Amino acid sequence: MDLFSNEPDLLDLPHEEVKAMAEKCTKCQLAKGRHKVVFGNGPVPCYLMLIGEAPGADEDTQGLPFVGRAGQLLTKILESVGIKRPDDIYITNTVKCRPPNNRAPLPKEQSACAPYLEAQIKQIKPKIILLAGSPAVKAVLKIDEPMSKIRGKWLKLPGTDISVMPIFHPAYLLRNPSKKKGSPKWQTWEDMQEVKHALEYHRKVAELAKESED
Ligand code: URA
Ligand code: SF4
Repeated sequence: MDLFSNEPDLLDLPHEEVKAMAEKCTKCQLAKGRHKVVFGNGPVPCYLMLIGEAPGADEDTQGLPFVGRAGQLLTKILESVGIKRPDDIYITNTVKCRPPNNRAPLPKEQSACAPYLEAQIKQIKPKIILLAGSPAVKAVLKIDEPMSKIRGKWLKLPGTDISVMPIFHPAYLLRNPSKKKGSPKWQTWEDMQEVKHALEYHRKVAELAKESED
């Protein structure tokens, strides 16, 4: 927070207001080339959240995250463990506007956009965050490890109780379609089994807490 800024602190605003601000945002150069701001999609609050890299062409046209080819694969991956879009997961990206020619978002663009992501995490109150691909891992956890080393590992979002798991980006899985044992797709299937169990655990805990209140 900037003590001497006149701008409202995003962390104190409701989701719809932060979304409306992002839709008019010109805080980084990505504003110039975008058609639609892709803020995010899903329930608020929600136990499960996924953070991808950046909107691509289809997302930029529709204003929704993960709706192109990679998005369709993501939908299939989630459905394989009974997670339905948009009811069971809130999906967003490290930057809300499409980088030109699908280049990776620059660290300065990700930092300019980070206050929106921070506000989203505060409003969505996820128990679990999936980070799809290393640009999301770098932006959120500030670590630079190869995906092959950290995917499927449970980490914590620093300073919180939120469980975080890096997973391969679905666009990477499109380029590596093998389903053989040990392949990235096979590993992602294993990771998603873990996510499913963790989600079931959190739902059960909430149910028990509610029962003891009643
Ligand atoms: N890839 C991403 O990282 N995010 C999207 O929304 C779509 C494709
Ligand atoms: Fe604003 Fe984020 Fe879009 Fe940059 S990417 S213009 S910071 S909403």
